[in-house]
Amino acid sequence: LEVISTVEPRIAEATRQELADQRASLKLIASENYASPAVLLTMGTWFSDKYAEGTVGHRFYAGCQNVDTVEALAAEHARELFGAPYAYAQPHSGIDANLVAFWSILAHRVETPALEQLGAKNVSELSEADWEKLRGDLGNQRLLGMSLDAGGHLTHGFRPNISGKMFHQQQYGTDPETGLLDYDALRAKAKEFKPLIIVAGYSAYPRRVNFAKMREIADEVGATLMVDMAHFAGLVAGKVFTGDENPVPFAHVTTTTTHKSLRGPRGGLVLAQEEYASSVDRGCPMVLGGPLSHVMAAKAVALAEARTPEFKTYAHAVADNAKSLAEGLMRRGAKLVTDGTDNHLVLIDVTSFGLTGRQAESALLDAGVVTNRNSVPSDPNGAWYTSGIRIGTPALTTRGFGADEFDAVAELMVHVLQNTQPGTTKAGGPSKATYQLADGVADKVKDASAEL
Ligand code: PLP
Repeated sequence: LEVISTVEPRIAEATRQELADQRASLKLIASENYASPAVLLTMGTWFSDKYAEGTVGHRFYAGCQNVDTVEALAAEHARELFGAPYAYAQPHSGIDANLVAFWSILAHRVETPALEQLGAKNVSELSEADWEKLRGDLGNQRLLGMSLDAGGHLTHGFRPNISGKMFHQQQYGTDPETGLLDYDALRAKAKEFKPLIIVAGYSAYPRRVNFAKMREIADEVGATLMVDMAHFAGLVAGKVFTGDENPVPFAHVTTTTTHKSLRGPRGGLVLAQEEYASSVDRGCPMVLGGPLSHVMAAKAVALAEARTPEFKTYAHAVADNAKSLAEGLMRRGAKLVTDGTDNHLVLIDVTSFGLTGRQAESALLDAGVVTNRNSVPSDPNGAWYTSGIRIGTPALTTRGFGADEFDAVAELMVHVLQNTQPGTTKAGGPSKATYQLADGVADKVKDASAEL
């Protein structure tokens, strides 16, 4: 930081402040974690300066021998950790990983057969007329993904995201009574819609998924099964999700981020079955430019960490702690979507406290509890104000919190929520954003958190 201060002191100060804030608060955002010093340090190296478009051993720039070592190692660790035939370490983020997956699937299922039929090796050889037809076919495919308010991610076909514009899309949801995935309804929808791709995976669904069943449904309708395990990759790596709950053997293509429960640098990965490997391998230049070699190096370090017995213990603690947090909240009167959890996250329906997600999120933040507001299924308050608070255990478990500490966290959260009142607009009407936290509560909760 001293070196940075000599150039731009305000960045050094913001960095110092970020560390202080992270230390002084309870980080409960389900998609965040604390990467190890080895991972953080690996990102700040000379690999940042190197261009390396292409893939291992097949680059468009000279002098990529060390990047080749890094990328090959990241892919090798990923293959061995997840038991995948093929791994691609270049995506800069989860969104990029999903874009690479979508376009690889389109390449494998639509482009390659068209080229074969036309006797062409690649799209540059096509006549204008054949190219226009192929472009039309690529843009005329169907995607079935989990809806945002049921816990899906915006890259799974949500209209404002490019995935919702690239594909004709439909969404599947959860059972309105139980909040659980309704596989029969999904099967019926898939049979009617006949998608090219079914996307499974979630950002805010607090339960496990049966990926064997997902694959069965995909096979019945001839769809490619793509699983986005961004949130729960750490639980797959740590062997908490095994058998039907491990997506990797069942999905044709699996994507993930590396920075959530997997506890690595910010970035993405794509895993694939052999038949999709050559398409995914063309992620650059199909979708991506030059890889972030310093981040691929950090992915290799994080994946090596995730292969240790300590990581397995960590991943099991993440799931056990989420149970303790959920039970602690419910015991104190909080209403949870699906009445519990069996993964790393918990979704509180804060309307039972008379609050919107926005009000609850702000009041909790005042008390040093960092969460994010989130839609609940069929949310009456919409995607901006929401009715839920999403919390997760990966970050505080890294800090060493166990079941007792998470029970104490539940108590502190309920204390804040019970002592928060909805506020009013300037004109005195009801507001979905303003709130009043009772005097003294924020300081009391901050002091108690510091003891944990
Ligand atoms: N997929 C899922 C399921 C996610 O939850 C997220 C992030 O929230 C992403 C993809 C996107 O990841 P990134 O923010 O790295 O682009």
